[in-house]
Amino acid sequence: MGFKFCSLSSGSSGNCQYIETDNIRILIDAGMSGKKIEELLSDIDVLPNTIDAILVTHEHIDHTKGVGVLSRRYDIPILANEGTWSGMGKTIGNIKEYNIKTFNTGKEFELKDLGILPFNISHDAYEPVGYAIYYKNKKISIITDTGWVNEDMKEYIKGSSLYLIESNHDLEMLKVGKYPWPLKKRIMGEKGHLSNDDAGKIISEIVSGNGEIALLGHLSQENNFPLLAYKTVKNILEDSGIDVHTDITLDLTHRDKVSKVYNF
Ligand SMILES: [Zn+2]
Ligand SMILES: [Zn+2]
Repeated sequence: MGFKFCSLSSGSSGNCQYIETDNIRILIDAGMSGKKIEELLSDIDVLPNTIDAILVTHEHIDHTKGVGVLSRRYDIPILANEGTWSGMGKTIGNIKEYNIKTFNTGKEFELKDLGILPFNISHDAYEPVGYAIYYKNKKISIITDTGWVNEDMKEYIKGSSLYLIESNHDLEMLKVGKYPWPLKKRIMGEKGHLSNDDAGKIISEIVSGNGEIALLGHLSQENNFPLLAYKTVKNILEDSGIDVHTDITLDLTHRDKVSKVYNF
């Protein structure tokens, strides 16, 4: 067996991604209540006490709300870089010493049979990261919560079998929407979030059309619609000659339900 991947939830109300191989089960972020995450895990028939580790991208509450609870309840190690630990240390509550694990951004490390490379992204947090995760000859890449994606980040994620890329907002909806100007500026800024257009452009630049799975994540409830995100990205991909049915699989993740379970 290769990878199993499921987005339990993605969006500003909570982020939690599930990754499994023969030998390990991990969560990337745990941004909802412990109870909610237990429910979503049970939707895919996974018991929370079988989770081996929680990896955190950054300290924002939509990524860390349930991290402490799950670690205490099921004795799960938490992995994050120093910046993120300093940001979330107070809010996630007391963690057992041996469950506090620190990694260095930009340095690949092993976790059982996984290779994990956390890399810098551009977001208004202490030390936010994206992840490239390797198993056998396959790779999963996750980039959400970044204002832009540079060539380095593209190199890190290229060649993945599955991408989870942020498609946060439609630029027009954000501009005319009800958010106060400073917040709009933050979201659009280089330490904010990727728009639907950004997501389309990035995906079109990195996929090779050999059946990769591209998932759109972290959709805004206020400044986006799932169908609008999907269509915007689909159009950009088709303009660059990529068919979203035959060349790749383009799919959405959700804020209120689990995604499809992908095995590859
Ligand atoms: Zn977020
Ligand atoms: Zn964030």
